[in-house]
Amino acid sequence: MSLVRRLLILICLPFAIIASSAAQNISVSQPTLWANKPDVPAFEKAVSERLAAAQRSIDVLVAVKGPRTIENTLVPFDEAIRQINSGGYFASLMQQVHPDATFRAHATAMFTKATAAQTALSLNHEVYNALAALDLSKADAATRYYVQRQLLEFRLAGVDKDDATRARLKKLSDQATEEQSMFDRNISDNQKVVDAEPSELEGLPQDYIAAHKAGSDGKIKITTNYPDALPILTFAKNDSLRQRLFIAFTTRAFPKNQEALTSLLKTRYEIATLLGYSNWADYNAADKMIVKGQNIADFIKQVNDAARPLSQREFGMLLAEKQKTDPGAKEISDYEVRYLSELTRRARYNFDSQSVRPYFPFAQVRQGILDAAADLFHVSFQQEPNSPAWDPQVETWLVIDNHKPVGRFYLDMHPRPGKFSHAEMVPVLDGIRGKQLPEATLVCNFPEPNADDPGLMDYDDVEVYFHEFGHLMHHILGGQQQWAGISGITMESDFVEAPSQMLEEWLRSPQVLAKFARHYKTGEPIPAELVVRMNRAAAFGRGGWVARQNEYTAISYDIYKGKPDEVNLDSVAFNDASQYTPFTPVPDTHMWASFGHLGGYSSAYYTYLWDKVIAEDFFLQFDHQNLLAGDAPMRYRRVVLEPGGSTSANDLVKNFLGRPQNMTALQHWMGEEFAGDAGTAKSSGK
Ligand SMILES: [Zn+2]
Repeated sequence: MSLVRRLLILICLPFAIIASSAAQNISVSQPTLWANKPDVPAFEKAVSERLAAAQRSIDVLVAVKGPRTIENTLVPFDEAIRQINSGGYFASLMQQVHPDATFRAHATAMFTKATAAQTALSLNHEVYNALAALDLSKADAATRYYVQRQLLEFRLAGVDKDDATRARLKKLSDQATEEQSMFDRNISDNQKVVDAEPSELEGLPQDYIAAHKAGSDGKIKITTNYPDALPILTFAKNDSLRQRLFIAFTTRAFPKNQEALTSLLKTRYEIATLLGYSNWADYNAADKMIVKGQNIADFIKQVNDAARPLSQREFGMLLAEKQKTDPGAKEISDYEVRYLSELTRRARYNFDSQSVRPYFPFAQVRQGILDAAADLFHVSFQQEPNSPAWDPQVETWLVIDNHKPVGRFYLDMHPRPGKFSHAEMVPVLDGIRGKQLPEATLVCNFPEPNADDPGLMDYDDVEVYFHEFGHLMHHILGGQQQWAGISGITMESDFVEAPSQMLEEWLRSPQVLAKFARHYKTGEPIPAELVVRMNRAAAFGRGGWVARQNEYTAISYDIYKGKPDEVNLDSVAFNDASQYTPFTPVPDTHMWASFGHLGGYSSAYYTYLWDKVIAEDFFLQFDHQNLLAGDAPMRYRRVVLEPGGSTSANDLVKNFLGRPQNMTALQHWMGEEFAGDAGTAKSSGK
């Protein structure tokens, strides 16, 4: 391992020298995304110009006579990638966050164009031949890896097929993009509303009740947006309200998405079979850490074996809680899980999750995360206060490393009508050393502070914030590459949830919490004994969580593992829920219709658990008494994040751990809830 580390440091050294000489201009010259406050025509022009610039680079590349060199071939190729990516990122972001529905619709159209340009490039036979003819014997390891991976991607796109097949693939790929956009938009446009009687809000936090006043009809409107819906499912004593809201939530985009998803399955199946794979799951795994579909099936089984004893044990505890009011109960329905978990946490750990919310006002959490990231990654953050953005609540920040700007990010953190309703990191620019700073946007939906309410956050929300910030730092710190095509998170997509899930663990550290979790009224730090109870309570339910994620993983794999004609979406969802979790599915729900990952992640939802396994393994390498001690933090930054996509993710893991990941750390993590119970911690896993 030390040899590997030395090698990496040697490779990194010239990078740093180049960056330090070039960075000074970048901080001033790179305009923010919204510097020119584009309206629809200006936005469309900006994206179109990037796509046109990409085409010019491709034309230059193709026109070369004579021997292929990195200068005359890879340089224009990477420039085309950089331009197409930046156009696609811009359109993708606007599609999800622009406050105006017309703008969003135009953004969807531009995103389709950018993806079409990407598809056309991936099927360009001349470009493929040019890259394949490169002499790489004198190139550095990152460049060799880049080209080799691009050639694989070209073959997966079908570039070596005959003209008719390539034409068909191009059509199918464009079609899949449109179908996926439709699937996503049906979800974000299909917010539902449930009417509640004021008396039904019993059990909800006071600030929630204050923010939800009855209308002129005497009813309170509860939307299916997360900040509205999750507190109801967690706290509402009224069984009927929780059930009604759960059904509304799990029937979003139904039946609209039945057609969209079925078409998408068919299109993808045809793509996979045209390229010689027996199904989409196999094809989709070919350029990832997991390599093939059967390995997903094996992984699901391993996770199930590891989680089942714990999820069964938790089920018994939840059922005992339910039987306090319903002595004959034998089952727990999906809509009851959050509520019963909350009751159990209170009873077993004397922990009420509302009791920590006063320590998590939004602005303090934001600062706490910036401070924690600054300590861990040895960087600092500086706000650019007067930068215009697509919405007034968006903030713009610079990441500073050793007095030099190394990236920029935008925080779009509160809900708006029509905005993407979950949490994600959207890249804005790929970082290229000395040429372009990496940029990204965090899109979240946390409670918005106002005059009466500092935006108190739930523990889960704070965890999501840490998670998304992990993506952000990966994109930025990995964004100091020579090439756009290997920058930041441009890598095997089944690795990218590891750094984000690793950062979630930071939130459990008393050391980290002490810095920012202070009562919003008194300023008092969160009491140490409350942190202990909070962490124990947070550890409760992990077996069930893994089981639930395994259910989703199985749905994502099962709908893509065979012929689409044989897929009944409701049956797959019902069967996988029954097989992998101890809970009873609610009849007449269709969660797959609003399961957005089935579009973008398709068969690769396993990524979350796969990366959870890796993240926990990473986290065990840190000193849990003092997370900043020793060489783990800097080694993590250097060995795992900074390489971006310049080497294989399986190698990144091995370089940091000294071996491939295994299930041990995940089992340890799941078993923490029972770690205090004599003799059970070890026997709970297999
Ligand atoms: Zn994530």
